[in-house]
Amino acid sequence: MENNVDVIVVGGGHAGIEASSAIARYGCEVLLITLKKNQIGEMSCNPAIGGLGKGHLVREIDALDGVMGRAIDQSGIQFRMLNKSKGPAVHGPRSQADRSLYKKSVQEILLLKQKIKVFEGFVDDLIIDNQEIKGIVLDSDKKIFCSSLVITTGTFLGGKIFFGDKTFEAGRIGDKSSSKLSEKIRNLGFPVGRLKTGTPPRLLKNTVNWNLIELQSADENPIPFSYLTHKIDVPQIKCGITRTTNKTHTIIEENLNKSPVFSGSIKGYGPRYCPSIEDKVNRFKDKTSHQVFLEPEGLDSDLIYPNGISTSLPKEIQEKFIKTIPGLENVKIQEYGYAVEYDYIDPRCLKYTLESKKIKNLFFAGQINGTTGYEEAAAQGLIAGVNSALKAKKSDSKFILSRTESYIGVMIDDLVTRGAPEPYRMFTSRAEYRLLLRSDNADQRLTDKGINIGIIGNKRKKIWLSKKKSLRDLKEYLTNLKLNNKQLKKIGASLLKNGNIPSIQNLITGNKVSLEKIITNIEPKKNYPIDCINQIEVDMKYDIYIKRQLSDIKQYESEQKTIIPKGINFKKIKGLSNESIDI
Ligand code: FAD
Repeated sequence: MENNVDVIVVGGGHAGIEASSAIARYGCEVLLITLKKNQIGEMSCNPAIGGLGKGHLVREIDALDGVMGRAIDQSGIQFRMLNKSKGPAVHGPRSQADRSLYKKSVQEILLLKQKIKVFEGFVDDLIIDNQEIKGIVLDSDKKIFCSSLVITTGTFLGGKIFFGDKTFEAGRIGDKSSSKLSEKIRNLGFPVGRLKTGTPPRLLKNTVNWNLIELQSADENPIPFSYLTHKIDVPQIKCGITRTTNKTHTIIEENLNKSPVFSGSIKGYGPRYCPSIEDKVNRFKDKTSHQVFLEPEGLDSDLIYPNGISTSLPKEIQEKFIKTIPGLENVKIQEYGYAVEYDYIDPRCLKYTLESKKIKNLFFAGQINGTTGYEEAAAQGLIAGVNSALKAKKSDSKFILSRTESYIGVMIDDLVTRGAPEPYRMFTSRAEYRLLLRSDNADQRLTDKGINIGIIGNKRKKIWLSKKKSLRDLKEYLTNLKLNNKQLKKIGASLLKNGNIPSIQNLITGNKVSLEKIITNIEPKKNYPIDCINQIEVDMKYDIYIKRQLSDIKQYESEQKTIIPKGINFKKIKGLSNESIDI
């Protein structure tokens, strides 16, 4: 193994994967150091990628040539577009994953295609000289030097697992926790806090009474995450839906004091929007039932992931309450649910590039920055990766995305300006300019930026440039397109009230004729790609609102240049929320 590399990435989780891949795409030498090579791409909790807001992040990672979108396209077993009945701004692509297939796909992309060097090891210490990172020290005392370092250690720093009152040190079940590195980071003066997360028990599939379970199918035409994927070839499966009952809630309420969160053993905050079942029962007392999704862990897996009942109650209580859920009366628990409490750093100590303000060339990404979720981790990994590579190559450029152009920008702006007093997860409601930041147009927003900074591979570049041309051609064609009466009839549309021919925009908004129908009827030979047609249709449909958001962005950008005087009394400013005043 080399003793000196451009960039070292510590941790082969979702942040570490995107960081290593981006560094390699930029053309830097990268060494990925992680506990177990065969766990690269491990999904610690739910076997699913995407969702509301999270799906946008995956599309953006993909538009920047990241790994996650391609990996889930090769391993997704139930693709569903969430929020389909609502407007396109809040559509949320999501797919359940075959856990082992996802890991295999990630490893293939990273290790076989990109040939990234991996070292199985445990980082205990950092080498720092004059407030600048110089390398790491492994638990074997071996030193490896680097120009930049990216730390992506997830839930492992000071990780402590809880099953009821039983507790032991671990990063996640079966993996040791990282205490020395955690101590080093504290000693360097980084602001460190504690957060917690949890996971549900895993159930044996053939012990579920499927006759009592409602089944939910995948979308008929699964839409891939990656702009490089034409079609999903993985077989699609159904998942089950059941609900907790009054009995479940009674058992949980009677045993709340045995949960480490309620007994006070766990001090860290858990994810507000992904609460444990004991949290839900306690917080939403008016609800007599909560939904539980029974998600198969893979095509050939015997295990079911019961989404919605993460818990850290003692094993015997888990056994008791789970059997009160319809369909699970005789279920066998294969692995028990647990909570993990871990150290995180306050991300306000980071710059927009995710480099620490304190130590030069030291970057942090993922759960260690107070976020929760694979997608949030991966998106940060990509940004930290590119910027660490730029620093390693002594470039003056920075790769920063603003909140006006991406969900990635929204998340990083939120983190570095407001911190993460509780685990941060992405939602569409966090983005002010949602109509512009849709999951369908991530490539239009970001791929050129990726090309300019040098992280987009040839294949994607070619596909994107050809799509860009199609978009341009189609827009030009539509601007000049004037229909006649015969053509109107053909698409089932009518003249305007004043007898004039409606514009294409009128047809789409007023007559509710799809752009696809217009084009395929009027110009069937032109063969414009369907994704281009759909993207332009959305732009035309929401044109007025999009223009309004563009003007809001101009105002936001000019306000960003305003310097807030020191010592200002925010309480005297009318209209500010209490939350903003506190921050
Ligand atoms: P991870 O995926 O955790 O990867 C960390 C990597 O760092 C690992 O590969 C590890 O081997 C390596 N590592 C750690 N320390 C060292 C060291 N000293 N030296 C070398 N390598 C090291 N997310 C949700 O959105 N919802 C949930 O409900 C949820 N529940 C969870 C429950 C549990 C029990 C756990 C463990 C996680 C849960 N998550 C949940 C979080 C999700 O798993 C993470 O958000 C995501 O995996 C974070 O990615 P990451 O890359 O930051 O870290």
